[in-house]
This record gives sequence, C-alpha cells and structure tokens, in this order.
Amino acid sequence: MPPPILHELKHQLGPEGVLYQPEDLLLYEYDGSVERGRPDFVVFPRRTEDVVAIVGAARRHGVPLVGRGAGTGLSGGAIARRGGIVVSFARMNRILDVDVENRRARVQPGVVNSDLSVAVARANLHFAPDPSSQKACTIGGNVSENSGGPHTLAYGVTTSHVLALEVVLPTGELLHLGNSAVDTPGYDLPGLFVGTEGTFGLVTEITVKLTPLPEAVQTLMAVYDTVDEATETVAEITARGITPAACEMLDGWTIRAVESFVHAGFPLDCSAILLIDLDGIREEAAAQAEETLAVCQRHGAREVRVARDGAERELLWKGRKNAFGAIGRLSPTYYTQDGVIPRTKLPVTLRRIGEIGKKYGFEIGNIFHAGDGNLHPIILFDASQEQQFRNAVAAADEIIAFCVELGGAITGEHGVGMEKDRLMPLLFSEEDLSLMRRVRDIFNPEDLLNPGKVFPVLKSCGEIRARPAPAKSGVRA
Ligand SMILES: Cc1cc2nc3c(=O)[nH]c(=O)nc-3n(C[C@H](O)[C@H](O)[C@H](O)COP(=O)(O)OP(=O)(O)OC[C@H]3O[C@@H](n4cnc5c(N)ncnc54)[C@H](O)[C@@H]3O)c2cc1C
Repeated sequence: MPPPILHELKHQLGPEGVLYQPEDLLLYEYDGSVERGRPDFVVFPRRTEDVVAIVGAARRHGVPLVGRGAGTGLSGGAIARRGGIVVSFARMNRILDVDVENRRARVQPGVVNSDLSVAVARANLHFAPDPSSQKACTIGGNVSENSGGPHTLAYGVTTSHVLALEVVLPTGELLHLGNSAVDTPGYDLPGLFVGTEGTFGLVTEITVKLTPLPEAVQTLMAVYDTVDEATETVAEITARGITPAACEMLDGWTIRAVESFVHAGFPLDCSAILLIDLDGIREEAAAQAEETLAVCQRHGAREVRVARDGAERELLWKGRKNAFGAIGRLSPTYYTQDGVIPRTKLPVTLRRIGEIGKKYGFEIGNIFHAGDGNLHPIILFDASQEQQFRNAVAAADEIIAFCVELGGAITGEHGVGMEKDRLMPLLFSEEDLSLMRRVRDIFNPEDLLNPGKVFPVLKSCGEIRARPAPAKSGVRA
C-alpha cells in the first residue's frame, strides 16, 4: 500500500512529477562528491506553488526535504542523508525576465549557469560567477553554495551578484528577500541566505546582477620549471595592484593529464603553468598584460605565451575547465578536495600534499585558483578497494588539516555539506557552532530541510557501509 504522502505528491505534481521506484531513485543517490544516500521520493515542481505544496505535505508527514539543482556539488549537499524527498529544480529552469538597461535578470533556480550568459550575450552582458561546472550547474545551486570560479578573483563570488530571492521556508512560509535596487535598507537577508547550503529554505526565484562583457581580454600562459617561481609571480602581480580577472595554476602532473585529453598546447615537461586573464578597456588590458608578462619573466617563466585570438584563448581555458574530465580518464575514481591557504604558502602546501600522496601511495594532481589561495588536490584511487577509499579520505583530511594549520580553511567554494561536517571543529568553537545553529533554526526550526549537513554529526553505520562504491567525483560537468 503506497504511503499517503505519495498520493498527495502525485495529486499536486501529476504522476510524471514524482519518482519513487528504487531503480529511479538510484540516480539521485549521488552528487559530484564521494558521498551517497538514497531518497524515498524525488519530485519535480514547475512553479513556486508546487514547492509550497511539497513543503506542506512534508511537514504534515514529518518527512525530510532536500533541494537539488544539477547534482554537481562536491560536498554531498544535495544528497538525502536522512532519506525523504529530494526536490529537483530541473523543471523550474526558465529565465523569467531580462532588464538590459538596469542589468538585471530574474530566473528560476534550475536555470543552468552558462545558459544565462549565453542568453544575454547579445546585449553584451553576462552572469559573472563562472564555476568550472558552469555548463551543468544551476543558479539555485550556485546561490546555495555561494559558488566561485576562475573569474571570481576580479568579479566576486555569487553573493556579490544576487539582489533578491524568493524562498519557501520549511515552515511553509513564502518569503521575498531583498529587491532589485542597488542597496536596500535593513539587514542584508539575501546576503545571509546565500551560501547556506540548502539548509535555510528552498530557493524558487533569483534576481541577479548582469555584468557588461569586457571590451578586451588578454590571456597569458606562463610556463615554469618550479612551483615556487609560479607562486612568486602571483604574489608580485597582486603586490603591484594588478587584479587579473583570473589567475589559475596547474601542476606538472595535471598538465600532462589534461594535455593528452584536450590538446590545449600545454608543455609536457614543466612543473607549473599560470593561466592569467586581464580584462577591461582595450588600452588598460594591453598595458596590464605587458606588465604581467614582465613580472612572469622576472620570476623565471621559461615561456610566456599570449593568446593571439579568441580561439587560442578558448583552447587554453578549455584545458583548465576540462581538467577534472581529463583526470577522470586516468583512474576508476577520484576525490576532488577543496581547501584555502594564504596564497604565499602554495609551495610548502604542494610539498606536503606530495608527501601525503607518497605516504598513502596515491597520485595527487593539483589545480589552484592561485589568485585567492583556493586549492583543489585531486586524489586518484580505486573505490572498489574499501581500504583505498578509507585511505583517500584520510589523505584528504590530512591535507585539509594542514591548510587550517597554515591559517587557511576547510573549504574555499565547494561547501561543507555531509563531507566536511566533522571537520568544522577544526575551525569553529562549540559557541560558534551553537550560534550558527540558532541562526539556522530561525529559518529551519525543526531541521526538516537538508538535515545532517554543515554541522558535525557522526556517520551512521549504513553510510559507512555504503561508502566503498562512491560516484566518480566530478565527471558530470
Ligand atoms: C567538474 C566540476 C567543477 C566544479 N567547479 C567549481 C568551481 O569552479 N567553483 C565552485 O564553487 N564550485 C565548483 N563545483 C561544484 C558545484 O558545481 C557547485 O557547488 C555548484 O554551484 C552546484 O550547483 P548544482 O546545481 O549542481 O547544485 P547541487 O549539487 O544540486 O546542490 C548543491 C547544494 O545546493 C542546494 N540546492 C540546490 N538548488 C537549491 C534550491 N533551489 N533551493 C535550495 N537549495 C538548493 C542543495 O540542497 C545542495 O545543498 C564544480 C563541480 C564539478 C563537478
């Protein structure tokens, strides 16, 4: 006999709006992380009223709720850790309104990040936050994770581009936070909401700022024989007051993995490359590129290539943005890590990561948003070997603990989710965590929405048993 909530959900959404057969639910056990958890139902609202009705049904039956965008998250945020209803926003994917003159757009949460930029490109505008997963991830997911990307060094992370939100709280209230004016009096509630990893409310509409496309972009690739030289270059670029639009670093191992897949023209025998974008009005971008090129050479770059045209520029960036996919060809499974350190500590951190890799017998590739000290070590392992999986997690924990020791943090942009909840005490005292819980409780008092995320909880036996066969991290984007 089907549970009464299934009848209510089908009545609201139609039979095609609810999944509950085990073979259908399997697909929603995963996101881009190595975590797992099976929901009891997956539902597909089309409008805000559907979301209000879903929340009402969940409340009446005491069933947990979890929002889901594209499932590219890397910390298990969209996984139903306690079962319940996954609310997929895949069918709420319309751009509702574009106001070119005021550079605003109103979108549903399931709009894919890069689709918005494509839609407004003719008006010479774009949506600036550009996670490397931007061809798959949704703006609702970006809001929940406060996502960054290569170009957020100059343009800022998602929160800098969100003006207003429509949200449905797990209490059933429908709220409108912020508005489309540049500044609004009172507390910055959209600012509070962005980055709460789907634990405050379900986002049903987002008003974002659109940013003019730069008149000119210059892309440089600087090639180094040592990581130290590449890092010193980054330090001097910033010290000179140059703000590149993007400044990414790939280590030698990753470069070789990417080149054999993408053929971006990366040299195979170097230790690091920097990919640097400088943008702005034509003269300014050219002057900054010239100055940056001189800095690269002064710090020992053995070659600095300046992209001659859009096609060459795109190819270089294709190399960077497809790095995860390239690595996915080399190993049955990989674990993408995300930590932050003061950017001057990159060489010592890389050395430590190398030692940790040796200790556990893993190959670890490294990609950095070098301009802001955000690093992504990628640990290659075989998930069919239970001990390897446990060792990969142990290696990742050691890397993150080292980041904290250096004055960094446990995540730069991928969030805490159910992956790093147990690491929160490395950064926060019990008082800090208790204050955060009290803020969450204002919005989500019964912990009905996305339970078991962000705050430390012990993994259940079921979770630990389920862990040996994780998803192949990061291959979806
Ligand atoms: C190859 C690859 C590259 C990546 N590169 C980057 C990068 O450069 N920068 C970066 O920051 N991240 C990156 N990520 C991580 C990920 O893409 C981002 O976190 C992205 O914003 C997640 O969007 P999503 O739509 O997939 O959200 P999901 O993974 O589906 O969900 C993420 C979180 O948002 C919540 N959520 C989703 N939609 C809603 C909603 N409407 N209302 C309430 N809660 C909601 C979920 O509950 C979950 O907690 C990368 C991931 C991959 C696989």
